[in-house]
Amino acid sequence: MSMTPPEAAIIRTDWTREEIAALFDLPLTELLFRAAQTHRAHHAADEVQLCTLLSIKTGGCPEDCGYCSQSAHADSGVEATKLMDVRAVLQSAAQAKDAGSQRFCMGAAWRNPKDRDMPKIVEIVQGVRAMGMETCMTLGMLSPEQAEQLAEAGLDYYNHNVDTGPEYYDRVITTRNYQDRLDTLAHVRNSGINVCSGGIVGMGETRADRVGFVHTLATLERHPESVPVNALVPVKGTPLGDMLADTPMAKIDDIEFVRTVAVARICMPKSMVRLSAGRESMSDATQALCFMAGANSIFTGDKLLTAPNAGDDSDAALFARLGLKPMESEEPMRAEKACAGACAPESIPAE
Ligand code: SF4
Repeated sequence: MSMTPPEAAIIRTDWTREEIAALFDLPLTELLFRAAQTHRAHHAADEVQLCTLLSIKTGGCPEDCGYCSQSAHADSGVEATKLMDVRAVLQSAAQAKDAGSQRFCMGAAWRNPKDRDMPKIVEIVQGVRAMGMETCMTLGMLSPEQAEQLAEAGLDYYNHNVDTGPEYYDRVITTRNYQDRLDTLAHVRNSGINVCSGGIVGMGETRADRVGFVHTLATLERHPESVPVNALVPVKGTPLGDMLADTPMAKIDDIEFVRTVAVARICMPKSMVRLSAGRESMSDATQALCFMAGANSIFTGDKLLTAPNAGDDSDAALFARLGLKPMESEEPMRAEKACAGACAPESIPAE
């Protein structure tokens, strides 16, 4: 039986930037070893959760996120659509379930949902849950009341990324600020919905910004249950896509990406660390290193909203090569919360 070092089992929310920077600086072999120890203390090391992401309302977004092809400020050629019909969304969810997905994530290109959209959104959440799938939505900023409505509908997760470190934020987005992001995350947390929040690396930020990104999430009162780590997918016509086309050297180094995953795993031991956009351009070896570093969730299917994704066939081949299997066990933070809810609703353990 392997011994679990005590530090791998401890959940902390008092990480300092210096401690996080020191993790980034470790020799890669040491960093991966520590991340793998932490991973094994809380998760089945051979299991990876499969999620499917559907864009239920594409393009025409008033926000100016520099990486996003769906921003109305970008010249990416993405056509704006209306919110999909409930029936069409449920059909896609049923297909995802048949393909083995446990979770159905739905994204709408909005600054925030309008109150008139909420009844349809609620119907979608209820319909997908009735199929026995977990639900996740990303709809932009939420008011406390909207978060409550989604919680009542049974939404399992809400995604709202902090994107990067606080100091680099206004280089990426100018139509909202970092505090806006944190406010929505607080509304989601207060409503009882599980929090999904991560970011994108390779946007021209420095390592210090990546330290700041992990620091923000790892020092929240409770860690996000899910932490997506994306590599920028450069899209022509977006400010950051064009920047990468002009300066290809700015592309994130694969090893630095792996380091970011490993540091996120060490700092947020129980969270699901989700390997998200950018995977289709990674080699199998890089993806294998990410799984070694503690990533334990991926998006399946050929598309991530509007960006290309690895595709089900190549994922099945990768899993066979690496001896990985779709996740069967329960997510540790959710199991813990369910237990706290059953035993003592007022005492969800603080981390
Ligand atoms: S990332 Fe979201 S909020 Fe930003 S422009 Fe794209 S759709 Fe809008």
